[in-house]
Amino acid sequence: MSEALHKQAHCAPLISRYNKPMFLSCGFKIECKRSVAFSQQPEIFDSQISALPKAASAPLTPMMRQYFEIKGQYKDCILFFRLGDFYEMFSEDAQRGAKILGIVLTHRHGTPMCGIPYHSVDQYLAKLTAAGEKVALCEQVSDPTLPGIVKREVVRVVTPGTTFSEVLLDQKTNNYVVAILPQRNRFGLATIDITTGSFGVTEVEGYDQLALELQRLKPRECLLPLLHGESSDLKTLCEALDDVHVYFHSTPQNPEKILTHQLKISTVEALGLGQWPIAVNAAGFLVEYLRETQKNGLIHLKRPKPYLPGEFMLLDEATLRNLELLSTFHDHKKEGSLLGVLDRTQTAMGGRLLKQWTVRPLTEKNRIQVRLDAVENFIKEGSIFETLWEEMGHILDLERSVARLSLERGTPRDAMALKSSLQRLPLVKSLLSALNAPLLAELQKKLQPLPDLVSLIDASIVEEPPLNLKEGGFIREGFHEELDELRSLSREGKGFIKNLQQQEIQRTGISSLKVKYNRVFGYYIEISKSNLGNVPENYTRKQTLVNAERYITPELKTYEEKVLTAEDKSKALEAELFRELRETIMESIGLIQQNAEAIAELDVLLSFTSVALKNRYVKPQLRDDFTLTIQGGRHPVVETMNPSGDFIPNDTHFNAENQQILLITGPNMSGKSTFLRQVALISLMAQIGSYVPAQSAEIAVVDRIFTRVGASDNLSKGQSTFMVEMQEAANILNNATARSLIILDEIGRGTSTYDGLSIAWAILEYLHQQIGAKTLFATHYHELIAVTERLERAQNYCVLVHEDTQNGVVFLHKIQAGGIDKSYGIEVAKLAGLPRAVIEKAQHILKDLEEGVVEKGIPAELQAHHVDRSHSGLSSQGLHSPHPIAEKLKKVDVNHLTPMEALQLLVELKRDSEMDFL
Ligand code: ATP
Repeated sequence: MSEALHKQAHCAPLISRYNKPMFLSCGFKIECKRSVAFSQQPEIFDSQISALPKAASAPLTPMMRQYFEIKGQYKDCILFFRLGDFYEMFSEDAQRGAKILGIVLTHRHGTPMCGIPYHSVDQYLAKLTAAGEKVALCEQVSDPTLPGIVKREVVRVVTPGTTFSEVLLDQKTNNYVVAILPQRNRFGLATIDITTGSFGVTEVEGYDQLALELQRLKPRECLLPLLHGESSDLKTLCEALDDVHVYFHSTPQNPEKILTHQLKISTVEALGLGQWPIAVNAAGFLVEYLRETQKNGLIHLKRPKPYLPGEFMLLDEATLRNLELLSTFHDHKKEGSLLGVLDRTQTAMGGRLLKQWTVRPLTEKNRIQVRLDAVENFIKEGSIFETLWEEMGHILDLERSVARLSLERGTPRDAMALKSSLQRLPLVKSLLSALNAPLLAELQKKLQPLPDLVSLIDASIVEEPPLNLKEGGFIREGFHEELDELRSLSREGKGFIKNLQQQEIQRTGISSLKVKYNRVFGYYIEISKSNLGNVPENYTRKQTLVNAERYITPELKTYEEKVLTAEDKSKALEAELFRELRETIMESIGLIQQNAEAIAELDVLLSFTSVALKNRYVKPQLRDDFTLTIQGGRHPVVETMNPSGDFIPNDTHFNAENQQILLITGPNMSGKSTFLRQVALISLMAQIGSYVPAQSAEIAVVDRIFTRVGASDNLSKGQSTFMVEMQEAANILNNATARSLIILDEIGRGTSTYDGLSIAWAILEYLHQQIGAKTLFATHYHELIAVTERLERAQNYCVLVHEDTQNGVVFLHKIQAGGIDKSYGIEVAKLAGLPRAVIEKAQHILKDLEEGVVEKGIPAELQAHHVDRSHSGLSSQGLHSPHPIAEKLKKVDVNHLTPMEALQLLVELKRDSEMDFL
């Protein structure tokens, strides 16, 4: 092998990994593909430098100097440093990265390093960001063919809240970053979903309100001001949220200016934010952070929507959880939750909006009414509804496509998604114009089909474009003359090369001769060792393999040049044409987003319609007063889960005169919890604008729904079941108003009977006397039935059961007026399969308790023994064997006993009993 050829063969892997320019800039000194030389003079940056190889007292290479310079600016990130076809991590970054990614960590001159191939970067970014890491992507930005070191820059910082990873993003869930700025006890909040451009701002008072708002938003990332200190209460509060990452960042000098500049407005008054200086600052803070991380102008960012948390029904965490609004209590799944039933949306945009609506029920009657009227209009115009619903199925995620394009991460597929979706709008718009509900008319006006843009995308992009922009081949033939010429040149060249193999086989007589291509050598002719004798004169040897030699010919190289040049040029031209198309699309970004919003809303209303038709829901009548009347109400989720479809409907009636509190008693398993939740869910569904599962419903609009349901330990926060129960109760009593709806499913159960009863009793009276909220109160304390009878606006209700001597109890699940003073707990325990001995013993004890044969709660049969069990012989006799005195008495035939014998027996029994107490 010639020396030159040997060098090339040896370095081939290096070239394929770090590509040619990298190879050149490092020189032949680099022996293997993972080699990165640390040399020349060390520079002092930070802890990373201290992790430099001991052996590197030698000065740093220019490339490593460049690395540390960049790393110094992104200390809190893992730096992905682009080297040819790989991203490399060094030092501590490499150690952290390798551990999270599960890849091999190597060392070079004592410095840890690891790398990942650039083409699969997304999957690695997803893993790192899911683990809460920020990753700075550092790319080669200068022409690598030029002499000297390649210029590199961080082009984007990927964080959990700014990821575009398909793996991490859920189509129907927003991915929010929230910036929070505190000012004494008030907080400014700015929320952005960078994947859609949605932007919200608000101000809240106090930590409790802040917590409520954050629980509703469920951000992936919370941004806090650096000055606020890492150990602050704010940090603790944010970290308590599920699945969130909290970062600190310095606040900008003039956040208001950043905001107005971003939105191209002169003052924040234009946004209605004049009175909200902290919210404005939070918004500027967040915009600055996102501009910094995205290195982009963020033109897809919408104008922020200011909102007052009070515009919506406030739902605390316990209520979100207890009512299983978005996911189930136990396994956190959407199926089995209210959203699982309500979500028949066809578009990702509609899915995201429905999720927002579900946790933000409206409190203003008119806003709810227009949604309900729109659904009614669809139900009346069934065929229009059907066609629209069908159309929704063809509309893709306009919001995320346009966001990707805006952030220069879009592909021709995003352009196609825009086209195919916008194409549907004329029909949607015309169908809507036949409907008269005010909200639908408004949506109809909002829709702007953008026919010119559709034509442009249609004319320029092929029907099924490739995923990768760099591969080219996505611009249509006939769209651009020069591109067509370049493509035909390339085709001709390829055609020639294809024919060349046949020609050369004939010319040389070597039937196994092959013309092949690879990225390192381009085109070459391969001849097996056994045919080397027939190689023509004009072949130049390029490479030796074990079984073959590779050659080139001047003719082959000429055509190769033509093909490759034409291909390179055409790819560059396609990229340029796509950039132009992207810019044209960006000119219409506002209208595209407006369409997306209208489609999202339409899709949710259509979904409400579809669910209402499928599940036989009715339109609720909204009321301004206190009255809430539900006839034949059903639990929206339980009824769909009941396989036999025999859910028993129930009525509910609240009024201000004598039905403010409904106390529900009834056995376990009879359906009390289901009933309570069903009333809350029907109210909530009505207030998001949905029809409801009932025969008829008149709904008083409520300001909040509070729930206190069952037992839930919060051991991770060191709180006992009873503590959690009392905290939830305290929250309700401190915040409920006469316009609230309260669901109390058992209160005071986590403590002793007397304590629990006393607390439940006092709460019941407080709700009646002080708060006046509509309340459903389920309890096992039958003593409360009598309390309720004395309260003017409280009524007793119970759940009917049928007692059957053969089958035990049968649950009828029917609510009726009156109290029930029996728990049937033992029957339920029997149904649950407790051992017979336990059931019998329990029945025995219960009988004693009910007959009042108790002394301070101790059943009669134990009373004789409870003074001191150790001397009573109880342990040896056990609870199951009858007492000896009772045994003796049983044997006595009283009818044949003389007075003297009776006296004698009495003396004996007394003596026995005294013995027992010794
Ligand atoms: P516990 O006091 O033990 O919590 P409960 O009285 O609250 O019991 P639920 O949990 O509401 O009872 O209901 C028990 C079961 O009865 C549920 O799993 C449900 O499937 C069924 N059920 C409840 N209400 C109805 C109804 N109206 N129609 C049909 N089935 C029902």
